[in-house]
Amino acid sequence: MAGTTSTPSERGITRDGTRCVVPAIPPCDFCGDGTPGPYDFHTRMGPWAHGCHQHWILYRTGELGVGSGQLWVTEGAADHGDSQ
Ligand SMILES: [Zn+2]
Repeated sequence: MAGTTSTPSERGITRDGTRCVVPAIPPCDFCGDGTPGPYDFHTRMGPWAHGCHQHWILYRTGELGVGSGQLWVTEGAADHGDSQ
């Protein structure tokens, strides 16, 4: 297919293309039990998916970067609030 260009135009993506600042982290598409899936990556099966670190390791096509995947982080990720 011609003319398909994907640019890192999504708001929040960092300059090196490895991270993306988002309002919330989606669940892992593979765990299916609500486990956070901060990796938005190109799977070896073809489609992109959200995955936890374990599933990113299993299904990734390469290191993080534009065209292969980003680690999503929330704006408040610096605050370590684990009081829930
Ligand atoms: Zn998972």
